[in-house]
Order: sequence, then C-alpha cells, then structure tokens
Amino acid sequence: MSADQETVTSDQPTTFPCTRHDALRAWEAFLPRIPAYDAERNGVRPGHGAVSRLSPAIRQRLVTEYELIAATLAAHPFARVEKFVQEILWRRYWKSWLELRPSVWTDYRADAARLRGELRGYQAKRLAELEEGRSGVEIMDYFAHELRDTGYLHNHARMWFAGFWVHTEKLPWELGADFFYRYLLDADPASNTLSWRWVAGIQTVGKSYLTRRSNLERYIAPDLLSAHGGGLERLDDKLAQPARVDALELPRPELPEDADDITLPDELSAPVGLWVHGDDLCVETAASLAGLRPAGVFAGMDGGLFTGERISDARRDYLGATLRDGLRRAGEYFGVTTAFEETASLADGLVAWAKACELGTVVAMRPAVGPLWEQLPELRGRLEREGIGLHLVWRPEDVRTLPHAKSGYFNFWQGARADLLGHEKKPEGADHPEHKRRRKRRHG
Ligand SMILES: Cc1cc2nc3c(=O)[nH]c(=O)nc-3n(C[C@H](O)[C@H](O)[C@H](O)COP(=O)(O)OP(=O)(O)OC[C@H]3O[C@@H](n4cnc5c(N)ncnc54)[C@H](O)[C@@H]3O)c2cc1C
Repeated sequence: MSADQETVTSDQPTTFPCTRHDALRAWEAFLPRIPAYDAERNGVRPGHGAVSRLSPAIRQRLVTEYELIAATLAAHPFARVEKFVQEILWRRYWKSWLELRPSVWTDYRADAARLRGELRGYQAKRLAELEEGRSGVEIMDYFAHELRDTGYLHNHARMWFAGFWVHTEKLPWELGADFFYRYLLDADPASNTLSWRWVAGIQTVGKSYLTRRSNLERYIAPDLLSAHGGGLERLDDKLAQPARVDALELPRPELPEDADDITLPDELSAPVGLWVHGDDLCVETAASLAGLRPAGVFAGMDGGLFTGERISDARRDYLGATLRDGLRRAGEYFGVTTAFEETASLADGLVAWAKACELGTVVAMRPAVGPLWEQLPELRGRLEREGIGLHLVWRPEDVRTLPHAKSGYFNFWQGARADLLGHEKKPEGADHPEHKRRRKRRHG
C-alpha cells in the first residue's frame, strides 16, 4: 500500500470494555492465557490475542491492579505468571514515580504547549505527516491509523513509533507524548509521559530506545509487515542512532504530604457527598471509604479540558461511558441517588451539585498526578467559599508502593513484591538480570 494513499485503515479490534462487568468478563477470558504471556507478549499480530487489551479499563480503575494480581496468583503458580505480574506493576511504578516528582508532569505539559506553538517549517510538516499516518514508513503509518481508529496500540508498537518519532525523525518527544495522550483510551499521565521519556533516553540516563528494522521483522506478523513494508529501509539497523535530547534536572523524590490520608476521619462536616472520577472508578472496593454514608454521589465531565487539550472524541466517549458505569455502581453500593453533569468546567458541576445537596463535605479518592489533580486547588477553593470541605483519601495499597519508586524498577519490584505479595525481599542483586545471566553461565 502506498503511503500517499489516505485510507490506510487498521483492521484491529475497536471495542474495549467500558463497564466493570465487561472488564471482568474480558479478564476471565484472558486468565488462562497468562502462563503463555511471557513468551508471546512481544509479538504484534492482528487481534492482539497475546495481551489483555485491558489497559483502558485498568487506567480508569474499572478493575484494580491489586484484584487482577490476586486473581492471577489464585489461578496460577507465581513462577508461571511472574512476568505478567511485573507488567501490571509497571503501571504502579510509573504512577508512584510521578507522585514523588509531580513537576515532571507540569513541566512536560507546559513544554508541549510551548513547542506546539514554536514548531515551524520542515519539522511542523513532518509532525503533521506522522500524526496523520503519512510519514512514508508504512508500518508506522499503520500504527498512527490504528491509534486514531481504535484508541489502542500494542506496547511494542508504542515503543517503535516513539523511537521512530524521537530518534529517526528527531521530533520533540513532548509532542509525540501529546499525540498519544490525545488518542489513547488508556492515556495515562504517568505511563505515557515516563515511557516517552524512557524512549528519548532521559528517564534512564544513557539508555535510549532505538527502532530497528530487524526487531520489527522479528516481532510483527509477516503478513502484516509485508502488507505495510514500504519505507522500511529508513529503519535499517545500521542507521539507528540516538538523537540528542536535553532534559531538565530531576527534582528530588518527595512523598506527597497527604500520603497518610488512607482513612476517613470520624468527624466530617455532614451531610457528606461522594465525588467519583476517572482515576478510580470502583470506589466500592476501596478500604479507605469504609464506613462512609454519603447523601449522594456525583460524577462530572469536564468539557473545557477536552476542547482545550484536543482530546479525541473516542476518548471522551470512553471516559463518559466508564464514568456512568462507576457512578451507577457507587450509587447502588451506597444506596443513594446519583448525579451526572457535563459542564464547561468540572468545578462548575461539582460545586453546583454540592450546594444543591447542601453538603458539608465532599469526599473523593485522591486523583493521581495529572489533569484532575491540577484542578484540586481550584476545586477546594471554590467549595470552601461555599462553606463546603473537600476530603481526599488514598488507597492504602497505592501508598505502600510510593516509597519504592525513588529509583529504578528493579528496586520497586523488590519492594512491591515484599509489601503487596508478601514475598521476602531477595538479597541485594539476587534477582538482577546481570546476576541471573552470570548464574546461568556458571551452571552451563
Ligand atoms: C511510548 C509509550 C507510551 C505508553 N503510554 C501508555 C499510556 O498512556 N497508558 C497506559 O496505560 N500505558 C501506556 N504505555 C504502557 C503499555 O504500552 C500499555 O500499558 C500496554 O500496551 C497496554 O496494553 P495491554 O493492556 O494489552 O497490556 P498487557 O500486556 O496485557 O499488560 C497488562 C497490564 O499491565 C500494565 N502494563 C503492561 N505493560 C506496561 C508498561 N510498559 N507500562 C505500564 N504499564 C504496563 C497495563 O496496565 C496493562 O493493561 C505506554 C508505553 C509506551 C512505550
């Protein structure tokens, strides 16, 4: 297929569970395949059958990482599913890492907005061509169309596309991350921003991810690659060179000040209302809300955020559907009425609802670093002006993973294993890949 043809369509699945019920059914179907995950997960094939495709549901917390890990370990011995558990915990690693360094998110958003206005000439033209799937490297154009058509990309395709964007095309990583962020149904401030930083070589200093033709030929289904093989010579291994990418110095990791808020205080100004949002849509499983007797539950769509950030319609619709499901379940669980509002700003909807219900306090799960978290000062201020408090609580499990994210994933995995799975920490270095390799060599 020629890259100039405008109608490169992806034939990948386009639907993703947008209720907890459907996410759990999809999960049950995937559970028996997990022992094969380690061997098969890197292959990119039509249908993506070797991976769960659950990331949009996990991102919005229709299901939690912890319940998926528990169900995995109840069904299979740890040794056969270790890789899958590790991957699930990558999300928690990235989220915890960003909680300890929130300015990495705010700096990235500011830089992306600035760069979007500054880009001119050839770079601006290439940016448009890559985003629209007209780069001339057909498999990358296929991925761009898949992202726009389905809201999903396989992890390996995300890595290849990001490596192509940063190191082959020398485009700013911030704008590539922004492109993904607008279209992915699972768009996650932590996983997306930090993965792009990793590909660019500024997350793990000295390590960049380069997209190599031999790697694509090894992992993409032959039929898929031969149908979209034009322009592959631009990715020849011998051409792969890291681009020079500048990075601001990283802030010192610091635990968030509110990270010990994992239970509700005895005295909250009554009546209390519950706000549910897209960072945690299964509040009925949150131990931190035990004992809550809300007068009502609210969820709101923030119209301004979507127009301002040019988020895709599909992502907006997905968020709307998942919010409605989370709200309905919360209402049923607490046995109270629910309200759903779509307003120009989230604060408008939330404050109007809280006033109409004559609330003394709004309670919510603490939003993770990202767009909702950025709005907290405004929300709190506007509620306070009406004499209404805002009380946020963390899931205890989320707090437990935070201190392990001060350095790399290896230390995080060791700490999280001990804290979440009850596995003893291994002696320093015992599980490290280099150590494993040496042990293998020694034992032939
Ligand atoms: C450049 C780039 C951008 C990314 N942007 C996002 C993003 O915005 N949102 C997002 O959720 N993931 C992102 N990822 C991580 C990863 O690609 C997706 O989580 C994964 O592909 C989701 O597909 P799946 O559910 O079929 O994964 P599976 O392979 O079935 O894995 C199961 C679950 O484990 C978690 N997981 C697996 N791999 C990773 C990983 N590398 N990092 C973090 N969590 C992981 C996810 O929750 C996933 O649903 C990005 C990766 C790269 C390289």
